[in-house]
Amino acid sequence: MRTVRTIAEMRAFVATARASGRSVALVPTMGAFHDGHLALMRAAGAACDEVVVSLFVNPAQFDEAADLAAYPRDGARDAALAREAGVAVLFAPSAEEIYPDGFATTISVGAVAEPLEGAARGPGHFAGVCTVVAKLLNIVAPDVAFFGQKDAQQVAVLRRMVADLDILVRVEDVPTVREPDGLAMSSRNSRLSPAERERAVALFEGLRAAAAAAADGQHDARRLREAAVAAMGARGVEPEYVALVDADTFATVETASQRVVMAVAARVGATRLIDNLLIDVRHPAATG
Ligand code: AMP
Repeated sequence: MRTVRTIAEMRAFVATARASGRSVALVPTMGAFHDGHLALMRAAGAACDEVVVSLFVNPAQFDEAADLAAYPRDGARDAALAREAGVAVLFAPSAEEIYPDGFATTISVGAVAEPLEGAARGPGHFAGVCTVVAKLLNIVAPDVAFFGQKDAQQVAVLRRMVADLDILVRVEDVPTVREPDGLAMSSRNSRLSPAERERAVALFEGLRAAAAAAADGQHDARRLREAAVAAMGARGVEPEYVALVDADTFATVETASQRVVMAVAARVGATRLIDNLLIDVRHPAATG
C-alpha cells in the first residue's frame, strides 16, 4: 500500500491503473478507522480492482472548532489497518493541498440537506461534505464510491449531488456496522467514558423500539417517535431529534407507509452521536 499526499501523485496512480484496464473504488474517510470503515474497504475491494481510501479530516464540515480539534487522529494505525484490508492507496493530503490559497467554491445541495443534520450542524456542514467529496471524486475519478448507511442523510445528499452534477460514478452504501450491544461504530465512540458508553446504546434501543412498534402494525410517525423517545429515556438519554423521513429525500413523513428511515441524534455526555434504521413496513424484518 502506498500513502499519497499530493493530487498529482494520486492522479498518476489512477491513470496507470486505468491504462491497464483496472477499475478503481474510492472510500472517503476522516480516519480513526474502526470495523465500519473496514467494511467499506472490503466492499470496495470486492467490487473493484484497486481501492483508494482517502483520509482527510475536512475542516470545512465541522461546525464547532472544539469538535475538529478533538477529532481522533492516528495516521500510523490507520495506515496499518488499511494495508491489512487490501487497500492500494491511502490518499492523505494536507489541508493546503485540498484548500490552497484562493479556494472559493462551495457546493450546496437543496432540500435533502436542510433538515436533521443540516439544521443541527448548520448549512456549512453538508456544504463542506459535498465540496470535499466532489473534489475527491474529481481527483480520483473512481468507478464506484462507497459510503456508510450510518450517515444515511449524507448518502442521500451525496446521491443528489452526483445526480444533479452528472458526476460519472456509482454510489454504493454499506450497512451500518455495530458493536455487539447495537451501538453504531463511530470514531466519536472513543470519547465516551465507560458509563457514557453504556448509556450510548440508548440510540439503537430507541430505533429498535420504533422498528418493533412498526413491525407490530404501528405506522403513525408520532407514535413511532414516542416509542423511540421512551426507550432512550429509560437509559437517561434525551434525543436532540428523532425523525421519521423518506429514505431518499429526507422529507418528514406522517405515516410509515413507504421505505422510511428513522433517524436520531443525541448527546451522551459531551459527545454527539447519530444513528438511523431503515424501517420497511412491507418487510418489517428489513433493517439497516
Ligand atoms: P467518517 O470517517 O466518520 O467520515 O466515515 C467514513 C465513512 O465510513 C462514511 O461513509 C461513513 O458513513 C462510514 N461509516 C462510519 N461509521 C460506520 C459504521 N458504523 N458502519 C458503516 N459505515 C460507517
